[in-house]
Amino acid sequence: MNASGDAAAPGGDFIRRAVAGDVAAGRVSRVVTRFPPEPNGYLHIGHAKSICLNFGVAAEFGGRCILRFDDTNPAREDAAYAEAIERDLRWLGFDPGANRTFASDYFETLYEYALALIDRGLAYVDDRSADEIRASRGTLTEPGAPGPWRDRGAAENRSLFERMRAGEFAPGSRVLRARIDMASGNINLRDPVLYRILHRRHPRTGDRWPIYPTYDFAHGQCDALEGVTHSLCTLEFEDHRPLYDWLIERLPVPSRPRQSEFARLDLTRTVLSKRRLSALVENGHVSGWDDPRMPTLAGMRRRGFPPDAIREFCARIGVNKRDSLVDIRALEHCVREALNARAPRRMAVLRPLRLIVETVPEGETDWLDAPNHPQDPAAGTRKIPFSREILIERGDFMEDPPRRFFRLAPGREVRLRYGYLVTCRAVERDASGDISALRCTHDPASRGGAAPDGRKVRGTIHWLSAPHARAAEMRLIDRLFPEDSPPPDAAPAPDSLVSLNAWIEPALAETPPPGPVQCERLGYFARDPDSAPARPVFNRTLPLRDAWTREQTRKT
Ligand code: ATP
Ligand code: MG
Repeated sequence: MNASGDAAAPGGDFIRRAVAGDVAAGRVSRVVTRFPPEPNGYLHIGHAKSICLNFGVAAEFGGRCILRFDDTNPAREDAAYAEAIERDLRWLGFDPGANRTFASDYFETLYEYALALIDRGLAYVDDRSADEIRASRGTLTEPGAPGPWRDRGAAENRSLFERMRAGEFAPGSRVLRARIDMASGNINLRDPVLYRILHRRHPRTGDRWPIYPTYDFAHGQCDALEGVTHSLCTLEFEDHRPLYDWLIERLPVPSRPRQSEFARLDLTRTVLSKRRLSALVENGHVSGWDDPRMPTLAGMRRRGFPPDAIREFCARIGVNKRDSLVDIRALEHCVREALNARAPRRMAVLRPLRLIVETVPEGETDWLDAPNHPQDPAAGTRKIPFSREILIERGDFMEDPPRRFFRLAPGREVRLRYGYLVTCRAVERDASGDISALRCTHDPASRGGAAPDGRKVRGTIHWLSAPHARAAEMRLIDRLFPEDSPPPDAAPAPDSLVSLNAWIEPALAETPPPGPVQCERLGYFARDPDSAPARPVFNRTLPLRDAWTREQTRKT
């Protein structure tokens, strides 16, 4: 079963079956796919689905996948985004190698193709404004109306288009349109715009082009020029496929790619639209594209999501033809599964309560051994200090505990994990009556945490030696939005990121492991680049609790 509830189909998903069919029938000798991001934002987990599919299919069939930047709109794009995209793609585990191209590499050929259409009477220059053109395009129920320039002669069209290319006309004053069918039931075939005038400096072609091709004109032709055999895109392009094919059939392109569509990934409690993500950045709702709450690959990396967990998630949701909303807990489950197996264990205290162990002499330190991974002896041990003054989590003590509370309470004994058994003898209060410390005793014979006489001690809590503990900022991260499907104007949940002045054990401050750690009972934490030597900063990747697993188990 995958996370969207479909049994994994034998022979793979519908796309892999179609590719296998093309290869078996000899229609395709070497499979070529492409991943075509527009460099106008960072990659998000939805892009990861497309990357895993495109690079995955190419690898499985011994072909190649091209990373092609779809840089046809310099009004929105930036070279910095292209760099971020490539970095994040590599981090996810995919290497385009030499297969990295830009749609702008083909501007000259695309221009020649446009002229070829004009010469065959299949494209014309329309002198009207974008608004006028839109108004005459008709609706879903009414056909469009042919405009006054539709039957212009080929020679005049060629001359006008050459002058558009020479920069003679003002932006927005003219467009080049395909001449297809203004009455078509498919709006995309009602003489779609192929070129628009835009006097904008392009990150790669500079000021060379005052006109730019539209997505619809550039995409399929770039696919064909690169020998793409399978052009895999999301369902919203299904209605564009007739136009894609119309152009490929009429142009002198060197190959005939086939477009197929699959469902976009949509996740609960977040948004996967670059427009909305970029609004979150611009409005200051998040600290940037790599804010650890963001569903971007950069945000997930910063938060501690391992790339293999993201790939595993993409494999489990699979590829299908019907849009669905995937529960974000399915992704979190994959992350926990990956981290549980390998994250070293450490201790930290988020909201400290002081515990004075009266039976330990002042100034004495007992260095104990704590396993780095309880299920993996090969991970070794580290030293943790025990002393007279201990920090525990405030929530692990209750003065008047309810029945099923097994942690610390007055008169009760509890285990300090890998430390000693301690018993709470008295509660100290400050001037305002709040609990300021607990007076305890310890059992010296319980070193390591075992009861010497086998007596039952139900509660085990995490702790730190107060004089040895180091200050750290811990950022607790929740889902970006409280709603499963956040409405368009939704603001992030105010408590989606909570920063705490917390405490960590010396080993974690001094020699932080390279990947995320599991702080016992608190969850997984990843060191943030905001860290300074005197003040490390950690993002909580996820808490330990996994409601998703429990729910899935209950269902079956
Ligand atoms: P947005 O709608 O957020 O702006 P986009 O589709 O315009 O996204 P592109 O940079 O053009 O962003 O996307 C590159 C590729 O990634 C496209 O092939 C697109 O189909 C795919 N893609 C984008 N979002 C998703 C998603 N949520 N699920 C699956 N594939 C996606
Ligand atoms: Mg796009």
